[in-house]
Amino acid sequence: MIEQLVLHQKNFATRSRNDHYQIRLAHLEKLESLVTDHQTEICKALYEDFKKPEVEALMSEVLPLLKELRFAKAKIRKWMKLKRVKTPTMLMGSKSFTRLEPLGACLIISPWNYPIYLTLSPLVSALAAGNGVTIKPSEYAPHCSRLMHGLLAKHFKAEQVAVIEGGPETTTELLKHPFDHVFFTGSTSVGRIVMRGASEHLSRVTLELGGKSPTIVDNSANLHEAAKKIAWAKFFNAGQTCVAPDYLFVQADVHDHFVRLLKTEIENSFGKNPEAVKSSASFARIINRKHTGRLKGLLENALANDTTILAGGEVDLDQHYVAPTLLDKIPPTAEIMNQEIFGPILPIMTFKDLSEVVSYINDNPKPLMIYLYSNSNFNLHMVMKETSSGSLSVNDSLISLMNPHLPFGGVGPSGLGSYHGEFGMETFSHKKAIFKQGWAGRFMKLLYPPYDSGKLSLLKSLIRFKL
Ligand code: NAD
Repeated sequence: MIEQLVLHQKNFATRSRNDHYQIRLAHLEKLESLVTDHQTEICKALYEDFKKPEVEALMSEVLPLLKELRFAKAKIRKWMKLKRVKTPTMLMGSKSFTRLEPLGACLIISPWNYPIYLTLSPLVSALAAGNGVTIKPSEYAPHCSRLMHGLLAKHFKAEQVAVIEGGPETTTELLKHPFDHVFFTGSTSVGRIVMRGASEHLSRVTLELGGKSPTIVDNSANLHEAAKKIAWAKFFNAGQTCVAPDYLFVQADVHDHFVRLLKTEIENSFGKNPEAVKSSASFARIINRKHTGRLKGLLENALANDTTILAGGEVDLDQHYVAPTLLDKIPPTAEIMNQEIFGPILPIMTFKDLSEVVSYINDNPKPLMIYLYSNSNFNLHMVMKETSSGSLSVNDSLISLMNPHLPFGGVGPSGLGSYHGEFGMETFSHKKAIFKQGWAGRFMKLLYPPYDSGKLSLLKSLIRFKL
């Protein structure tokens, strides 16, 4: 069954190669109305999966998806055009072009934390590029998975978009087939498995992975603004965001003041006492008992390592609840500092000189994102030039993802490849190089065999020629 599906999707992509741009536009419009017409069901499914508040559902799943879709609609004509590129002097007289062609059958494997957006946003790029697409949503968000299955099956033929639901065994089965591209969003460890599977068929891969994104606050920052933005980003979706601030480095002389501001933000956002926070309708739940237990274990390990709880700390396994939590005085050896937290727990560390933070970041795997809160250009340049990360965001959290002119993706263990806007179109396309020789072609023939000393000296002068 999968074999036939992949074959049909490859054929679909072959037929799409020479689409008029209006055909692609119509596909994107179909996806757009699917999303706009079913916003209520989308929010409902997200609530059923992990009590995601409606505002967060609309802000993080529907809004960025529609923005991505509308950007693609506005640009698709331009992206599909044959693009003329420059020709060096040595090839004078010839013309060069690039053309984006569909790759074929593409597989999108998505996670549960933004189950709609992280499935349908790569689909925007894949459809814009003219591919056939198979989607494997996460089994951990079953209501969203079922909803996408139903809606996409109703609006698209399987040769263009098919959803296959299931867990790791389904991914394993899918990876046995010769997809032309595998686009995976998930953990670094499963990313390795996916890349290994894709290598069997030399399928191209994009890996959108996770990791620990550091946040830095120095003493030049607007501390009130920083506290608001960091608390919002950390506790949004209950911390289950790939680019959530994972841990915080605060300059020592503003530490106490900044901690007070963060605590006030938690109180203002969710309530003034533990019961109020727990019953807040503005705070999502952890996806399941397994992940709640994992976070409980991280907290227990931190406490056993003499960490101080500054706020929160409550866990309810049955209700999949972990309170917004601030931790202080964490030793770097604690488990929480050595794995992605992916929950509403924020460890806080202090620094005197920014070079200590730079060394710490460089001693650890390259992160997906670094957040810097600072008004010092010196510090901005230091973090920008001396660290490596998928992205760097200065004086705000999360929202840089909304700019379709910026590529989104990791580096090293946080990912391979990127998407959003034209970067997504390119990720799901083959960029074909087209070279057309003109009148100058005859000069190159001067270098064809049989070789002699004249040809050798002509070649040597070409090598000396600077252009
Ligand atoms: P995950 O890696 O456990 O699962 C992702 C997908 O892989 C799911 O569809 C799942 O069914 C499948 N899968 C899981 N185990 C598998 C296995 N052994 N073999 C084959 N397939 C398997 O990730 P998750 O828990 O769903 O999501 C959380 C992770 O994703 C975090 O690390 C987070 O940082 C990362 N993430 C990254 C981004 C990004 O854009 N870079 C976005 C969201 C989440």
